[in-house]
Amino acid sequence: AIELKDITKEFNGNQVLKGINGEIDEGQVLAIIGPSGSGKSTLLRAVNQLAAPSSGSVVFEGQDLTKAGKQSLNHLGEKIGMVFQSFNLFPNHTVLDNVTLGPRRVKKLSDEQANQEAMHYLKQVGMAEKANAYPDSLSGGQKQRVAIARALAMQPKVLFFDEPTSALDPENVGEVLKVIQQLASEKMTMVIVTHEMHFAKQVADKIWFMDDGQIVEENDAESLFSHPKEEKTKHFIEQVL
Ligand code: ATP
Ligand code: MG
Repeated sequence: AIELKDITKEFNGNQVLKGINGEIDEGQVLAIIGPSGSGKSTLLRAVNQLAAPSSGSVVFEGQDLTKAGKQSLNHLGEKIGMVFQSFNLFPNHTVLDNVTLGPRRVKKLSDEQANQEAMHYLKQVGMAEKANAYPDSLSGGQKQRVAIARALAMQPKVLFFDEPTSALDPENVGEVLKVIQQLASEKMTMVIVTHEMHFAKQVADKIWFMDDGQIVEENDAESLFSHPKEEKTKHFIEQVL
């Protein structure tokens, strides 16, 4: 589990996270929903230390990431994979190279070992036959599946997704959600920021509804969507469902 304790984040005196407390449970899927600007992306980045919190702590495998030295932080950082809305693949590298780059550099795998493992993850996301293609020749859904394979190749303990389907054409959304669903059934620990409410409802064990830098409500999907407790949650759900 990852424990979040009283996390705040300010930008130039503007408090964007106002004390976040919660737990990311092992083997479970946490979905984070909420209006634009509520701090969802900032929270992901604060937890994985891409943009460290202003205060509070993130305890992962018994270690406070906010107090970890640079070296152990790098090491722990490898255990949290990240998939972005915009894929962030390297355009001048093939699909296979995109997936092997990290393991070769960071895990010091041989080319042969890295290729072999990469093909395993590309198969898992249904992209093995595109191993030698370049990202520009792929659809958005295919790019995102490669990005997921690339994250998996680092063998993370936890995977974070920040709106993995919002840059996709509608016809490509399903294939990416299917891959995420498959990972969920294999008990991958995941945190997914998403605007896909039906997907959140299907896949998430737990949902956080965020507004204005706070977790307004936490509950299992069924309860949160069908019986929201807070006015703000009700209002949001009425708007998006
Ligand atoms: P969306 O659904 O639109 O992606 P979000 O919930 O992910 O929204 P954040 O991107 O976390 O929201 O932003 C929360 C607030 O923090 C916004 O008001 C945003 O302008 C501000 N913010 C985020 N990053 C920075 C930054 N680097 N510098 C200054 N302000 C920032
Ligand atoms: Mg965001």
